[in-house]
Amino acid sequence: MIYLDYNATAPLSPLVEGSILNSLKRFGNPSSIHNAGRASRAAVDKTRKLLAEALGVLPRDITFTSGGTEANNMALHCLGVARENTYCSAVEHDSVLKLVAPQNHLPVDENGVVKLHQLEQVLRTARAPTLISVMWANNETGVIQPIKDIAKLCQQHGAFLHVDAVQAFGRIPISLLDGISLMTLSAHKMGGLKGVGALVSAPHLKMTAYIAGGGQERGLRAGTENTLAIDSWGQLLANGFEDFSAVAALRQQLEAGLKAANPLVHIWGHGVNRLPNTTCFSSPGHDKETQVIYFDLKGVALSSGSACSSGRVVKSHVLQAMNAPEDLANTAIRVSLGPHTTQQDIDTFLNHYKAMIG
Ligand code: PLP
Repeated sequence: MIYLDYNATAPLSPLVEGSILNSLKRFGNPSSIHNAGRASRAAVDKTRKLLAEALGVLPRDITFTSGGTEANNMALHCLGVARENTYCSAVEHDSVLKLVAPQNHLPVDENGVVKLHQLEQVLRTARAPTLISVMWANNETGVIQPIKDIAKLCQQHGAFLHVDAVQAFGRIPISLLDGISLMTLSAHKMGGLKGVGALVSAPHLKMTAYIAGGGQERGLRAGTENTLAIDSWGQLLANGFEDFSAVAALRQQLEAGLKAANPLVHIWGHGVNRLPNTTCFSSPGHDKETQVIYFDLKGVALSSGSACSSGRVVKSHVLQAMNAPEDLANTAIRVSLGPHTTQQDIDTFLNHYKAMIG
């Protein structure tokens, strides 16, 4: 199989694979005070420290969750901001979008970038406290938002800013910039296990408990920690991030090949900053669902970029927000590369694409 769906999830890193049995043997409950418990606590705290170092925060500002979805839900609830004062970009992941009233979805331009002047207008008129949620990079198109500018605007207007950095972390340099109150991470997009993520918070941010219970995670998110997944995440972080340096060049070859094969191809966000690994493109006349099945039959795993959890291909709210015409929206698929993608993978993919275009 040629795996070109890293934005859905990354294959398990060999670093994690190699350490999993050892992690499993560390079975103690991290809240127990005996030796076995302390060993698990040490592993959890080591990952917390590594995450904090990577993002320029203190370990106490990291709250482990069950993944990006939960961290996004927690972010939108834990500050106690009223729903009518909560806004998000129209291209957010569903775990943010569905919590925000449709009239509070901030518009984006044809590249999927948040319109800063409209954001400023909202910030000027919104009632305090206000919460803005904008992702660092989009899962469907890879388009990177001007987070520094957005954080500055939010800071100027005294608004909280939450940033979903699930797709950005480990792929481009990020940190908890001034003006960012909360940030979401997930381990499985970077080679870790599924079922663990984190909500990173600015120092001394006042948050209310999201899950009540035994008081874990500073009383904010109760429940025995997923020690296996957290420990594995730490193994990854301790060895540095997976190497994305070759990915940008492969992506460039991929896009040149697409354009050579099909002059009608449209690459979404091609004129703006994007993640180095993501290409979302439309091939007019070639239905997206049919394309995903065609490539699957050829042994290539990719995505339409807008599959829901049941696997059904749905209309992309991201492309809709970018004002995509129907014939382009209905024919868009996403190729997302990773550190294990090879030149041969790209060549094979392009050969299949040429055969499909005919
Ligand atoms: N946010 C973004 C941008 C994502 O791409 C995803 C996963 O697809 C999530 C949040 C949800 O993360 P998780 O799968 O860890 O719940």
